[in-house]
Amino acid sequence: MNRIGWTVALLSAAAVPAAAQPAQPARPRPYPVFESPGFVRALQQGTRTRTGRPGPRYWQQFADYKLSAVLDPAARRLTGEATITYHNRSPDTLQVVVFHLYQDLFAADGIRNEAVPVTGGLELTRVRAQGRTLAAATDDTSAAYQRFATLLNIRLPEPLMPGGSAAFEFGWTFTVTPDGAPRGGTDGEVFFLSYWYPQVAVYDDVTRWQDDPYKGTAEFYMGYGNYEVALSVPEGWLIGSTGVLQNPDEVLSSATRERLASAASTREVVRIVTDSERGAGKATARGAGGRLTWRYRAENVRDFAFGGSEHYLWDATTATVGDLDADARPDRALIHTFYRPSRRPWAWDQSARYAQHSIEFLSGYLWPYPYPHATAVDGVTSCAGMEYPMITCIGGPRDTLLLYSVIVHELAHMWFPMQVGSDEKRFAWQDEGLTRFNQAQGMREFFRGFDREAQSRENYQRLARLGGEVELMRHGDLYPFDTPAYGVASYDKMATNMVALRGLVGDRRFREAYREYGKRWINRHPTPWDFWNTFNEVLGQDLNWFWRTWWFETWTLDQAVGEVKAAGDSTAITIEDRGLAPMPARVAVRRSDGSTQRYEVPVTTWLAGVRRWTFHVRSQPGITSIEIDPERIFPDLNRENNVWRAVLR
Ligand SMILES: [Zn+2]
Repeated sequence: MNRIGWTVALLSAAAVPAAAQPAQPARPRPYPVFESPGFVRALQQGTRTRTGRPGPRYWQQFADYKLSAVLDPAARRLTGEATITYHNRSPDTLQVVVFHLYQDLFAADGIRNEAVPVTGGLELTRVRAQGRTLAAATDDTSAAYQRFATLLNIRLPEPLMPGGSAAFEFGWTFTVTPDGAPRGGTDGEVFFLSYWYPQVAVYDDVTRWQDDPYKGTAEFYMGYGNYEVALSVPEGWLIGSTGVLQNPDEVLSSATRERLASAASTREVVRIVTDSERGAGKATARGAGGRLTWRYRAENVRDFAFGGSEHYLWDATTATVGDLDADARPDRALIHTFYRPSRRPWAWDQSARYAQHSIEFLSGYLWPYPYPHATAVDGVTSCAGMEYPMITCIGGPRDTLLLYSVIVHELAHMWFPMQVGSDEKRFAWQDEGLTRFNQAQGMREFFRGFDREAQSRENYQRLARLGGEVELMRHGDLYPFDTPAYGVASYDKMATNMVALRGLVGDRRFREAYREYGKRWINRHPTPWDFWNTFNEVLGQDLNWFWRTWWFETWTLDQAVGEVKAAGDSTAITIEDRGLAPMPARVAVRRSDGSTQRYEVPVTTWLAGVRRWTFHVRSQPGITSIEIDPERIFPDLNRENNVWRAVLR
């Protein structure tokens, strides 16, 4: 429901004839949003549309991963093996297949835009493709592999035809990064293993191979696949992981299994493993040679990560996610959290509650959480907060506010980009900005009115005032080094854009379009144009002026109350648009009898090139104040000139 009668106000503003407008300086008038050449080609080929829906000929690649990892905590080494079957569902014949070896970010000669600990990167011990063992390339033509930055480029022995599949085998080993490395690693007590296996790069209908290397700042673009994973760790270790554990009877004690079963049918938090119950023969089974192999399966996910430690406590409960299977009964997802006892005073003993609230709230705000579980693990400090399918790594000591805020943020990523699989590298706002916005919605409910949206707006405004702002439509690795520009554009300005959009069209219509965008692109790869086109279509409005202004430009908003002048029994109010970003001006006129009237100068006024607009209102009862955007829905950089107050006599 839109509680403020803007429609009525708009009519009343339009009904008052304006005085002659004085000459005005020129202002930018937003260009349309141009389509990228790749998107135009996709339109021509019928894989995309201008409605924001996937095209009738949309296609997407798929892969089956069979992975195994042996973790040696003393040596801090992971040794892995993989068989990866890549299914070519594109209409193209492929001569090469590109893999990411993300651990090469940590190679001595790695190409980076962030300082990281150097571990030597990934050592490949075996590369096979289509049944043939490949060597590093020595010429330009034969089947072989080449490594560059974090990429592994494989020239296939045989072309991979449309509809065909190719099997790849890899053997590898690497040193697990120490604390200080981004998004995972070990501090000696806990291990979080991310980006630990060769992963096929995305080949899509818009870009073809999107093989931008991992340099540190910009995140990822990942395809969907099924995973079967075997993880060998010391007995007594507890593991939190993407996917569903396939062999609980082999790795967990019967007491642990019984408690897990009881957690699966309650919304109370069950302490699965407490301080005194840790260790082999208590929390876990005993294994041959002091080791156990935990086996997992995950379907249609874009990555696989896990955390493990002998120090972990384990809490579990469930979240009610809504009706997933349309049987009119609410469905549940399991919630797991793993943390060291030393983190307990830092709110981790409440972590299962926080995760439960996050998943339940977001299932209602967006759509039901589709995965079998949501898991948060206490990881290395430099993990900060990082998302993977069904699991998040959260680092550092955190109080209630900081722990809830990072859990709700990371679990919000289970919608964007885990389900809605956009390109995080080139368009970070498409997952981080939406996630920051969704995080704010969760925090408002959990902390009863906490305004995280205001924090985003202020972060954006601070940088914009300093002139350090950079536009959203920029590759994540191409922002100025060591400034807040990437974070502000991708997270806070994008969240602020969503707040503005909600204010523009009303919460009900905003959420209708937002959910529709998500649902159209679940387990698919939407581009920015699919995002904008969906909103344009569902809202029935051409919002290109809005997308152009806030995504492609660094224009800022500064509306001001100009002259206020009595003219007979009416008062002439002039609104000035002093900034470069056009937005409707929503004006509240307050009167001495306590009443407030609302008026709107529609954005079309500014889009016509005008900088000042005058409208007339009745003078009685006496006007006490005039304020533009009193609810602070739009990120006006200078609020001081938004208000006019009557001088008291
Ligand atoms: Zn994030």
